Amino acid sequence: MALSFFNTLSGMMEEFTPIDKNRVRMYCCGPTVYDFAHIGNFRTFIFEDILNRYLRYKGYDVLYVMNITDIDDKTIRNSREKGVSLSEYTEVYTNYFMEDIETLRIKKPDVFCKATEHIEDMVHLVERLSKKGFTYTIEGSTYYKVEKFKDYGKLSKKDFSGIKIGARVDADEYDKENARDFVLWKGKREGEPFWETPFGPGRPGWHLECSAMSMKYLGESFDLHCGGVDLIFPHHENEIAQSEGATGKQFVKYWLHSEYLIVNGEKMSKSKGNFYTLRDLIKRGYSPLAIRYLLLSVNYKKQLNFTDEGLHQAKSSIDRIGDFLVLLTRKDYPQGRSDRVRDRILEAKSSFEEAMDDNLNTSKALGVLFDFIRDINKMINEGGVLKGDVDEILGFLKSINEVFDIIDFPENSLESEIESLIKEREEARKRRDFKKADEIRDKLKSMGIVLMDTKDGTIWKREK
Ligand code: AMP
Ligand code: ZN
Repeated sequence: MALSFFNTLSGMMEEFTPIDKNRVRMYCCGPTVYDFAHIGNFRTFIFEDILNRYLRYKGYDVLYVMNITDIDDKTIRNSREKGVSLSEYTEVYTNYFMEDIETLRIKKPDVFCKATEHIEDMVHLVERLSKKGFTYTIEGSTYYKVEKFKDYGKLSKKDFSGIKIGARVDADEYDKENARDFVLWKGKREGEPFWETPFGPGRPGWHLECSAMSMKYLGESFDLHCGGVDLIFPHHENEIAQSEGATGKQFVKYWLHSEYLIVNGEKMSKSKGNFYTLRDLIKRGYSPLAIRYLLLSVNYKKQLNFTDEGLHQAKSSIDRIGDFLVLLTRKDYPQGRSDRVRDRILEAKSSFEEAMDDNLNTSKALGVLFDFIRDINKMINEGGVLKGDVDEILGFLKSINEVFDIIDFPENSLESEIESLIKEREEARKRRDFKKADEIRDKLKSMGIVLMDTKDGTIWKREK
């Protein structure tokens, strides 16, 4: 089966064929930098990271753009409450976000674009829409005339037949019951940042930001647009209305939306107060790797129930991989290569790809990884693994890790330092210089390395 995704637009699984041969252009709605992102947000950002990485694994030439919403109702409200300028306020949370994605090993998008640095593009888009009769201005604010866009509702598949024509909404976020003409450009208000434009001073609405920036970097029609399911309506529905209204072309070919991370049956969200930030969890002793593992271990189209138990399980899964690597790389094997091992690698590779091709079935793909580890472990114990197989096994694990990034491989330079200390210790022990041998053991311990003396010699592993 070829790579396929569930496309929210068609409501079906579809085979993925990029618009422009091998090139994939993808846009993901980034954070609103009014506070720390929570673990629910990171569930979505990690899904997008896996998508980005898997497309590259498949050999696509990916251009990945993410925006930073540094102006909207919430950032303005919070900066005013704090008594600092909007840019001072959002810079702090933008930096925290950058640190957090690094901690979680989320690969940086090729382009990060800030809304406040693209006002001109937004103004231009409003002008294009105005020329085509999609807008009207009342009391200084410019609105999108929803009734003029015949396809309104095609993404969210909601029935808008009852909405009041000409009624307006100014807020960035609202529900279907309140759907009506939405604001593109908000008229200048006391104490709010504003820009001068041909249609009056003011600031952009949230939906306008993403339409303008995505088309600037990716063109008027591009391949993938992602976010959490809460963005389907109104945000993405409005993006389609704005972009397709202005260009008359299909805006995005595939829309992918991740399901919520939930706590006790409820969506994790700031407004409900049931959220953890990444920093909260790290302070409580959880490793970023276990958090990453947990967030990617459930298929993105399924809700992820967040629990401490889940984090503990994630940690033990990561430890299992670590123990396997210790066993694999610390043993002496007879010379040669085994066909059985090679066949097992090929089988695992094709099962991994089959799972991932099927709408990024990460839980199945992880299952493939652990079955592989179990079988190779068994082969090692039965003497079925030979020296030449080790690099092949490691190479396969490294290629999977390009997508998951949940495995730490022993670093070569550090490894050789450790090996030579171990050798030195063995020689000291042969000389019955136990003082020296203990000193070396302590030194290794301070480097986080524990030694295990076995009948086959000394093996080492990283302290957990
Ligand atoms: P925001 O910073 O609020 O614009 O959200 C950033 C991303 O996180 C968006 O794609 C949201 O859809 C997503 N998101 C928000 N809450 C959750 C949640 N509980 N689970 C999964 N994704 C979420
Ligand atoms: Zn967006």
